[in-house]
Amino acid sequence: MVTAKRDETPAVDQLAELKLICMENLLEAPGVRVYFKDLDSRFLLVSKGCEATVPVGLSTKDLIGKTDFDFYSREHAEAAYRDEQDIIASGIAIENKLERETFRGRADAWVSTTKMPLRDAQGGVIGTFGITRDVTAQIKAERDLAYQVLHDSVTGLANRYCLMDRLTQALVAMERRSGHLAILFLDLDHFKEVNDTYGHDAGDLVLAEVARRLTTLSRRTDTVARLGGDEFVVLCASLSDEDDASLVAQRIVEGIRVPIERDGLEFAVTCSVGIIETSDPRADPEDLIRGADEAMYEAKASGRDRHRVYDPALHFASRANHLKIELDRALTNQELFLLYQPLFSLDDQALVGVEALVRWAHPELGVVAPDDFIPFAEQHGLIGAIDAYVLNEACRQLNEWTTREGWPSGFTMAVNVSGRELSNSGFAGLVSDALRRHDIAPLRLCLEISETEFIGGWAEIQETLESLTALGVRIALDDFGTGYSSLAHLQRMKIDTVKIDRSFVENIGRSDRDREIVAAVTAMSHALGMSVIGEGVETDHQLATLAGVDCDQGQGFLMARPMSADAVVALVG
Ligand code: C2E
Ligand code: MG
Ligand code: MG
Repeated sequence: MVTAKRDETPAVDQLAELKLICMENLLEAPGVRVYFKDLDSRFLLVSKGCEATVPVGLSTKDLIGKTDFDFYSREHAEAAYRDEQDIIASGIAIENKLERETFRGRADAWVSTTKMPLRDAQGGVIGTFGITRDVTAQIKAERDLAYQVLHDSVTGLANRYCLMDRLTQALVAMERRSGHLAILFLDLDHFKEVNDTYGHDAGDLVLAEVARRLTTLSRRTDTVARLGGDEFVVLCASLSDEDDASLVAQRIVEGIRVPIERDGLEFAVTCSVGIIETSDPRADPEDLIRGADEAMYEAKASGRDRHRVYDPALHFASRANHLKIELDRALTNQELFLLYQPLFSLDDQALVGVEALVRWAHPELGVVAPDDFIPFAEQHGLIGAIDAYVLNEACRQLNEWTTREGWPSGFTMAVNVSGRELSNSGFAGLVSDALRRHDIAPLRLCLEISETEFIGGWAEIQETLESLTALGVRIALDDFGTGYSSLAHLQRMKIDTVKIDRSFVENIGRSDRDREIVAAVTAMSHALGMSVIGEGVETDHQLATLAGVDCDQGQGFLMARPMSADAVVALVG
């Protein structure tokens, strides 16, 4: 009798008996099918696990002497026979072959099979043996998962991920053929009302019906996708030059308009469709979807229940609209923040103040520079709120700093204001409120107005400038040299400081002419009682030249970049 205790290797003479016992166990094992076949692929021996494949009323014993042709579909039996004969001829195993087993009169199954040559004691091949596992459940789970990854669960349509994949493929395919593709972006009109009035089940029902109609209304080669909510996309990937996507869109708009009747209720929904077409294989998929989306918005804006074709001019307008909404949000969510760029006296290199520079911490784009949103905000009436925020925050910060022990005396805060704000009669009041609220001496605040802002005319802002001067705040003309102001005029307008634009400072090292201009501007400004700041100092040479022509202050990356309030504290030491 064989005894195989732990830590004890059986003696050699016991091995043969042990093998037999193992074999018997294997043949009795559930779940796995083990079978041995002769050279003609007839069953010699089969394990209990093979019961699963034996037709009802027969047992595994009935398999002996039979072949696959007696139980399986012809196709499957032929494939198995071919494999086995190959193994017999080559002596090489086939491992983990995934195949679909098709039985006669029974449901199909997915199996993973390994087959090997069956050898006698001398090593001669006397048949084959195989081990087969039913993997139907795993395959089904994998397929379900793949389906879920690519499809929307409410409608069964392709989802965004699947759509983007097909769109990318369609663009690639366009490299090899003529024609074009169209994207139809569809959004249901007032769908929220269906959900709110009849509940989400009714909403889902409507979505499913819309999905069904879209599938019927489009071609078999089109991809119909649901992006989420009540947004759908139809990708017409293989349009010929003559095909007109507008006709497809028209059909869809009319098809959706037909009321949906369910459970005695009638839902009347309409949709708005935006179309974008391209024949450029290098077009960016995301841009295309965005363009179609924008055209859809245009369809909504022009009355809904219709389609519109993408137009680049409209693209700009709707981008502007989008940015306006985002900026509004930035103001309410406090996404704006300030950095401070130090200004230094050129006499003794002492830190004399900072300029507040606004930034936008956009949730998706990261930190956005002012040049990317200030001009836009000015155009769309949002600059007032931004300037008010900056003014208030800069004054609050200035108060916090200057009440610290040892803070440099006479430290100033420069704040940029838009010309548009200066023509607003309430602006001086806003400034005086901020000064009072944060207990700031007016002299410490310097308002910078860009020279380009004055092109509109001084008359409009004269009143505000006078009120500001009366308050005691200082006024600097920013970016001097980019506009057309004469210095004498600036003096009459009570400008205290001229900030020479970076473009001049940049060139003073290279061009004698610019150096002369800077020298002349400085001398004249001084003669007229105005101080001068050089902006955008990046090199030692520029700094030395500015100091050499008697410029009062300098600001630039050479000395310090715009920095956080904490960094300013560290700099002051
Ligand atoms: P600005 O008032 O002329 O501000 C100076 C700009 O030059 C800042 O750019 C600053 O970072 C940059 N700069 C400073 N030194 C150097 C240098 O050495 N080299 C170079 N290449 N650049 C330097 P920033 O912060 O991007 O501001 C751009 C413009 O946006 C400002 O020009 C100003 O006109 C406007 N701006 C900034 N903050 C505000 C604000 O709060 N309100 C308004 N209305 N406009 C603002
Ligand atoms: Mg400035
Ligand atoms: Mg400037």
